[in-house]
Amino acid sequence: MSHEPAPSPSPFPSPSRTLRVCALYPDLLSIYADRGNLLVLERRCAWRGIGFQLRACGLGEPLSAGHDLLYLGGGQDRDQRLCAEDLVRGKRGALHVAAARGAVVLGICGGYQLLGHSYELAPGERLPGVGLLDLTTVRADGPRLIGNVTVAVSLGGGPERVLAGFENHGGRTHLAAGQAPLGRVLRGHGNDGRSGFEGARTGTVIGTYLHGPLLPKNAWFADWLIATALGIDPGELAPLDDALEDAAHRLAQAKAGGAPRDEPAGARRGGPAGGPGRRQATAKRA
Ligand code: GLN
Repeated sequence: MSHEPAPSPSPFPSPSRTLRVCALYPDLLSIYADRGNLLVLERRCAWRGIGFQLRACGLGEPLSAGHDLLYLGGGQDRDQRLCAEDLVRGKRGALHVAAARGAVVLGICGGYQLLGHSYELAPGERLPGVGLLDLTTVRADGPRLIGNVTVAVSLGGGPERVLAGFENHGGRTHLAAGQAPLGRVLRGHGNDGRSGFEGARTGTVIGTYLHGPLLPKNAWFADWLIATALGIDPGELAPLDDALEDAAHRLAQAKAGGAPRDEPAGARRGGPAGGPGRRQATAKRA
């Protein structure tokens, strides 16, 4: 009778859950380091033992079901043209279905514009959007809205937090009367340079002009996205040592001008108020 050696246990136990991400048009909608945003999601999952699966969906490819988070990055007008047609023709329905079942749909700048009803590039030239957000965008004759920006954001009834990033867009986005913005501009231009609104949010569908890239400078927001996409409370995510991320966040706020705002008590990363403090935070692996 032969004895097979017992299989040695894997040093990486299989994760109990997996964040399934789909990047739409990563070759066309990916400027200002959108890959950095995806990398942050991947790392923050890995550090916690959460699985991470990244799929790409490009021109002409069907958008399959089963994604927890769908990502549309920034883009130039000419590339948005290609994506807008393809989105509306082939992916609109699947995107609406995904959003209706609670998947996170995150659009950054050019991707944000395509989540609305339309993006008018010039009189008579209007790109269609998928209509997940009740807004329209018009390319203005005036200067591009460029610079560092901070936004006050309140998500899910939680305490107000700050998003810090960088914007660069020619389009001016106008929210319909009932459309909630993502937040209030503290510094910078926001949707149109006038309204004081930045981005838009309907449930788990979120659009913002903030590049940066956004998530390395706002780790708390990355965690909110991960938790929301997984259908759990952000407080359920294991805390991480975010000394570097917090420093990047403060620096981004300082670049936008004005003193960095104190983070609200009990809103620090990874835990309910009174939860583990920084010294007890999980060590990150390389
Ligand atoms: N092309 C769009 C604009 O200029 C979006 C730019 C971007 O994604 N940075 O408004």
